[in-house]
Amino acid sequence: MASAPREHRVVVVGAGVGGLVAALQLARRGLAVTLLEAADGPGGKLRQPLVDGAPIDSGPTVFTMRWIFEQIYESAGARLDDELELTALPVLARHAWGAGEQLDLFADPAQSRDAIARFAGPAEANRFGQFCRQARTVYDTLEGPFIRSQAPTLASMHGDLGLRGLAVLASLGPMRSLWGALGRHFHDPRMRQLFARYATYCGSSPWQAPATLMLITQVELDGVWSVRGGMHALAQSLARLAQRQGVTLRYGARVQAIDIVGGRATGVLLDSGERIAADSVVFNGDRSALGEGLLGDAARAATPPLPPSQRSLSALTWSLHAATDGFALERHNVFFQPDYRREFDDIFRHGRLPATPTVYVCAQDRGCPGLPAPARDRLLMLVNAPPAVRRALTESEIDACESHSFSLLERHGLMVRRTAQNTLRTTPADFQRMFPGSAGALYGMATHGWMSAFRRPGAASRIAGLYLAGGSVHPGPGVPMAAMSGQLAAATLMAHLDSTSRSHRVRISGGTSMRSAMTASMD
Ligand SMILES: Cc1cc2nc3c(=O)[nH]c(=O)nc-3n(C[C@H](O)[C@H](O)[C@H](O)COP(=O)(O)OP(=O)(O)OC[C@H]3O[C@@H](n4cnc5c(N)ncnc54)[C@H](O)[C@@H]3O)c2cc1C
Repeated sequence: MASAPREHRVVVVGAGVGGLVAALQLARRGLAVTLLEAADGPGGKLRQPLVDGAPIDSGPTVFTMRWIFEQIYESAGARLDDELELTALPVLARHAWGAGEQLDLFADPAQSRDAIARFAGPAEANRFGQFCRQARTVYDTLEGPFIRSQAPTLASMHGDLGLRGLAVLASLGPMRSLWGALGRHFHDPRMRQLFARYATYCGSSPWQAPATLMLITQVELDGVWSVRGGMHALAQSLARLAQRQGVTLRYGARVQAIDIVGGRATGVLLDSGERIAADSVVFNGDRSALGEGLLGDAARAATPPLPPSQRSLSALTWSLHAATDGFALERHNVFFQPDYRREFDDIFRHGRLPATPTVYVCAQDRGCPGLPAPARDRLLMLVNAPPAVRRALTESEIDACESHSFSLLERHGLMVRRTAQNTLRTTPADFQRMFPGSAGALYGMATHGWMSAFRRPGAASRIAGLYLAGGSVHPGPGVPMAAMSGQLAAATLMAHLDSTSRSHRVRISGGTSMRSAMTASMD
């Protein structure tokens, strides 16, 4: 690749994981990068509000696929382990259905098999082994042709998968849902429910998600880590790394509009009235913000907004700093209800909060070997919720869901001593306010149906010089995927720049300017 022109100025809008990774990789390649973030610090959804004096991770809590971050740090001349303290969790998650009905999944697959054999019988443990083998094969099949691909299409996938890959996908059963595929593996309904829940990691219903989403299970079975200082520490570390690469970071800097001149992004206008010129812009907010005109009318053409019916799950969360008792909490805990289907019907069909929510609790000071139980737990409690697309949820609906959720915990024996002071509640409308254009949908587009994964925009928008990064674009949501989208945005921008500088060198004698050559290469 030809070296990048030093004078090429990039503005990255948003310091979520995707924006941070794009910024640091572009600066590493010699571009002049300014990162503008509306909030007062980095991280986006990796936020960590103070609740009753304690910092509580109130976004993502499950750190997986550490190899992606190892590569990112390495590409910036650093080592992940030197920058962040990660601890591999021996227990991946504790799952509870009722008093005494508990199943832990372990980092060690043999321990998981033994636990399943005790919980659901040896035959089910064997079926778990078969399921893991299939999930591994699906993951290995899709990693190259889909996850790492810049903008996969059905046609490119067909070619890249080859006959062997196509046979793997065909073996899942064309058009089968994740729920349907799990039914072929597991006989115990609780096991099916446990693995179906992984569809929610990308904001989807197991009844509508394709069977290929079983690859998410593999990602978790490959290991879960806790980060010292919380997931927010990852964002801070990426921001430090970006700064060391020469990125200028500016917080409290909300971009009001992306300037488009002659069909090309030429800079941004801040709320403060300041205008910053750029040769390229990377947008890390929700892609629907562009299509909805929240970044100015001219930027609407970049990518269409998501139709309301395609929005992913939102969430109702409680960040708590409270004493607990009655249940031996692990770091990651899931409290199930028997009627799982009803939860997704409520959300996706009726657009309402679930009457029978599954409750996830992350106990942030638990699970690391040798860690004593704290006097007060730092908890993130989460239930799935509809995005704020049809109507605003009323206070009384939210209160009712809160009371169902805490009652469920109590039925499992878990008492949480909450007060108004030690509890921070966040609703879909709050998420919409924090992440404009998202309608509170935390994972962009729901992965519903076989074709949905191909509908996410890639890194190159329809406007020359404007690139997209983050969980609402390819390869999709989740911290590692958003990081990968940042890598893809940087790579796509560099590839355009490279082809431009080649065409510039060829055409320079004809007097073609750098700018018009680049515009031509993007058309
Ligand atoms: C409650 C919750 C739980 C989750 N659990 C997990 C989990 O356990 N594991 C996992 O891997 N993932 C999880 N996720 C998903 C994961 O957090 C996201 O997919 C990922 O962090 C998205 O990163 P992003 O790059 O899209 O940026 P975002 O986090 O969406 O950040 C975008 C940034 O852009 C900024 N911005 C937007 N517009 C502008 C503007 N006009 N001007 C300036 N700045 C702007 C915003 O302020 C924000 O900081 C969870 C998310 C939530 C909310």
